[in-house]
Amino acid sequence: MMNIGENLQKMFSLEGSVVVFTGAAGGIGSTIAEGMALAGARVALCDINQEQLEQVQKRITEAGGEASCHRLDVTDKDCIEECIVGIGRQYKHIDILVNCAGINKREGFMDVKEETYDRIMDINLKGVFLVTQSVAPYMKTQKKGSIINIGSHNTGSILGGCSVYGATKCGVLSMTRSMAVEWAKYNIRANCVSPGHIQTPLTVPTWEHPGRSKYLLDRIALNRPGVPEDITGICILLASDASAYITGAEIRVDGGCIAGGQPWDYDTAF
Ligand code: NAP
Repeated sequence: MMNIGENLQKMFSLEGSVVVFTGAAGGIGSTIAEGMALAGARVALCDINQEQLEQVQKRITEAGGEASCHRLDVTDKDCIEECIVGIGRQYKHIDILVNCAGINKREGFMDVKEETYDRIMDINLKGVFLVTQSVAPYMKTQKKGSIINIGSHNTGSILGGCSVYGATKCGVLSMTRSMAVEWAKYNIRANCVSPGHIQTPLTVPTWEHPGRSKYLLDRIALNRPGVPEDITGICILLASDASAYITGAEIRVDGGCIAGGQPWDYDTAF
């Protein structure tokens, strides 16, 4: 008799895997981290927002998952090294890295101050670079690892006011491909998950704005905002052995946004 649960578990289970997760206190990060913990992973939750991180850890442990909290500023090389060494010592191995920490400040190209440019670049792009440089040696020693970088809709199509943010996310995609080609020989895979327009506490004002929400919905084929839970499944797939032959890919989770959004009304009977 076929046992579906057992077969699925064999393919997708993260049991025993250790995940380093940046941006784990955020709207999207906390949801994916919880999903991975409930798929069996032991999640090292890393974020600059310690207070929020503890709430996420509580939620995960109450749901039966395993997680630990680590204060991490992805712009601070010493802090990263100390944090990753601590996680390595605690868990003895690091199997999965999710680079999810990211910020944006929407303003016109000419209004962006140099400090804002540097801050967005430092967190979204250099942060991914430095954290990955710190984690990859563990994966290289183990001859196995999966790196998931969170990109954005903006790698393929831009909204106004996202010049620096869009550039960082295109950079993240490019770095993902470099990780994939340079580290395939160590059995380390790297992929980029690019969410579309996701409803999180931070994007509530956009979704509550009648003009802006209509503009966005018109561009989403599935005609609804994404929710953080929409991103969880793909991350579990990319972290698990079920995706053993997927590397260097960008996977969009955008409800059909890049595909073309909502079509015009048309008369053809069908
Ligand atoms: P979020 O709720 O603001 O989460 C980001 C987290 O990163 C926050 O907890 C933030 O802490 C933390 N962070 C900021 N600076 C940091 C630093 N220097 N070091 C470590 N952590 C830091 O944002 P989100 O909407 O969940 O976004 C998560 C990821 O998805 C980002 O990479 C974003 O670009 C990407 N994304 C989001 C959407 C969307 O629609 N929301 C769409 C496409 C892609 P603080 O709260 O203290 O700043």
